[in-house]
Amino acid sequence: MRVIVDNDTCSGCGLCASLCPDAFDMGSEGKALPRHKAVPSWLEQEYQIAADNCPEEAIKIFCQV
Ligand code: SF4
Repeated sequence: MRVIVDNDTCSGCGLCASLCPDAFDMGSEGKALPRHKAVPSWLEQEYQIAADNCPEEAIKIFCQV
């Protein structure tokens, strides 16, 4: 699994980092930063929860590694 945040869409609300602090940080520009580009299997559910709850649908998940 791979993950990116669309910086043009991310509002910087911080919900993903609050829900899944092992998966996201908030960057200095106020946008979410995934902590992994290639997601370890034990964190896949965390990233999926964040993507499912992002109000802007800015978190994109790709199943290919
Ligand atoms: S939940 Fe979505 S909009 Fe909010 S900071 Fe995270 S990626 Fe950005």
